[in-house]
Amino acid sequence: MSEPEHIRLVKETEICKNCTNIVVGKGNLNADILFVGEAPGKNEDLEGIPFVGRAGKNLDEMLSKVGLSLDNVYIANILKCRPPENRDPLPEEIKAHTPWLIEQIKQIKPKVVCSLGNYATKFFLSQGHIELMDKQPGITSIHGKIRFIQIGGLRIKLIPLFHPAAIIYKRDLAPLWEGDMEIVKKEVKESLVQKKLF
Ligand code: URA
Repeated sequence: MSEPEHIRLVKETEICKNCTNIVVGKGNLNADILFVGEAPGKNEDLEGIPFVGRAGKNLDEMLSKVGLSLDNVYIANILKCRPPENRDPLPEEIKAHTPWLIEQIKQIKPKVVCSLGNYATKFFLSQGHIELMDKQPGITSIHGKIRFIQIGGLRIKLIPLFHPAAIIYKRDLAPLWEGDMEIVKKEVKESLVQKKLF
């Protein structure tokens, strides 16, 4: 059987040819909530698992504070491979790697997507139109604000969050991030109640 198009597209990129592992995701594929980061870093590349480094530790802590864990969330990235020296993703890389993310969204069918940082947030706000990403508001102005978006044929509640790595360098963001996570918790609870009722 030939390889699916979304995998082939990723494998054809230079960053994929130079990485150790393709980092697909971790967590529960039946989760109602999907967290999407930017790209694997050094540790993630070595282990083939997203968010295993310092930023991942932050993310785990924040998830547990609001009663979430890998049992009830799924975590993935915009890019499936580490860019050299953790440089920013290029538009052509986002274009080649996000069809795989969209396949994941179609499979998981999350009620809520939490975008972590600017790249993931701008990707979702532009509803997958990469050429429109530059025109989207930055994370500082939009974090914690709920938006409804359409992606992969699904209507999704988007909650933009600061990237957990940013919290390491800017400790003053921590209370904002905690406040945003309370919004996440409330939204997840609501979507679970709706599921029971309908
Ligand atoms: N930062 C990300 O955006 N993703 C990871 O998987 C790790 C760090």
